[in-house]
Amino acid sequence: MDLDRHDFELDELMERIRANDNRLIALQVPEGLKMQALEMMDTIETETSAQVVLAADPCYGACDLVHDKMQLMGVEMVAHMGHSQMNIDSGMPTQFINVTYKGDPELQPVIPWLEQHRAMAQQRLAAQDAPDSTMSEEEAQERFMDAVGRMAPLTNTKLGLVGSIQHLHLLPEFHDRLEKAGFDVTIPIGGARLSFPGQVLGCNYSGDDPSIGHYLFLGSGDFHPIGLVLHTGKPLAMLDPYTGDAEEMSLERIERILRQRFGLIMSVQDANSFGILIGEKPGQMRRTLALRMKRMLAQHGKKGYLLALEHVGPELIDFYPVDAFVNTACPRIAIDDAVKYRKPLITPFELEVALGEKKWELGYQFDEIP
Ligand code: SF4
Repeated sequence: MDLDRHDFELDELMERIRANDNRLIALQVPEGLKMQALEMMDTIETETSAQVVLAADPCYGACDLVHDKMQLMGVEMVAHMGHSQMNIDSGMPTQFINVTYKGDPELQPVIPWLEQHRAMAQQRLAAQDAPDSTMSEEEAQERFMDAVGRMAPLTNTKLGLVGSIQHLHLLPEFHDRLEKAGFDVTIPIGGARLSFPGQVLGCNYSGDDPSIGHYLFLGSGDFHPIGLVLHTGKPLAMLDPYTGDAEEMSLERIERILRQRFGLIMSVQDANSFGILIGEKPGQMRRTLALRMKRMLAQHGKKGYLLALEHVGPELIDFYPVDAFVNTACPRIAIDDAVKYRKPLITPFELEVALGEKKWELGYQFDEIP
């Protein structure tokens, strides 16, 4: 990571520590910044009267805030870096620290992708096909595995401009540049789990609406793009502020994931016992959903065991004598890591399809945490 071009906004944190006269705080940083954490701890301890303890467990999002067990250690406040506030209460006073990246990539490399995707959206708008209730089972299953076939009806073909948190400050400027280049651009505003316009998370794309026909994502890696296309079925171009490179999220790749999900659903149809995973992290805890899955399994004559975990990994669950697992913790564990598990690991929606509670023809539904 090019650290010289990142801004870590520690000043506000240090002012708050001084104002509160804090003596012990916890610092929580994303995995990519752990190497720099000791330097930040030195700065905070030199500039304030607080001692700093690093929350050294893995941290992948603001869903994973240090919570009240740190209170036992006497920690008075948590400084959480690189993610934005969510609609959750961790039970600890928390200061969010923004990290922004100064890179400002050229627009030109991504324009051909955007033109191609706009044409796809225009075609889609002109020929929309609603799910047909007379479809055969085979046709319905084909629709399930079609990346775009399940897209909600469009009302327009606007370009949705989104980004990951450290690049969101670029969006207003990119909005204007893209409009000048002839695109009708919107910066979507999502629900309570998101703090900023244009923000997306691996588990939340709630800013999507029917007026958006295609997307541009400012950020690096394919984690957010995979989720957004899996969720919406809309074409998406990516522009990486670190490298200036442009590419698209290929629909073939999304269809490969959908085929894999289809295979997992088929593989649990005869399963009789399920481990239902409940995440203990404050922003992943979906107790009500887990209990609903257990009730639904019981109604189908099957057994569900509730398993609560802070971290989910194959070594922690594979040995249980159940036929399959349903994951209600971070949705991306089932989607991105399924191959690491010996037994099928599926989402709650996928279980509903396997049990016949949801219909194939309505298409794949991404497991979003609202
Ligand atoms: S995708 Fe998973 S790790 Fe990321 S914010 Fe959502 S629940 Fe947390």
